[in-house]
Amino acid sequence: MTVSVVPEEPELGQQKWCPGCKEWWPLDEDFWYVQTIPAGSVGHSGGRTFLRTVPVHRWYTLCRACSLEANRTRYLNRREAVRAHYRMWYAEHKNEVSARRREMYAARSAA
Ligand SMILES: [Zn+2]
Repeated sequence: MTVSVVPEEPELGQQKWCPGCKEWWPLDEDFWYVQTIPAGSVGHSGGRTFLRTVPVHRWYTLCRACSLEANRTRYLNRREAVRAHYRMWYAEHKNEVSARRREMYAARSAA
């Protein structure tokens, strides 16, 4: 985790570097998503179990803007992959599909 006080901007306090946009942002919840693990919860480390006495903050790797962007890109990529798959499948099975549809319509109009 890259957290430090940037020498040129000491008045901003601790800042965290985002590998997405390659910029420093102040380390607070306006700029970063954070997962808080409450005190009193059970943790595991190195095969040992312990009780947390202080809450633990887990800051996300990407800043808020990059996290949103990454989720959106992931979603769009997946949607495109699914579409491409069906497009390919349809191109291969077009004749089957149309034959089945013809049968279906014939059965329906016969009934
Ligand atoms: Zn970022």
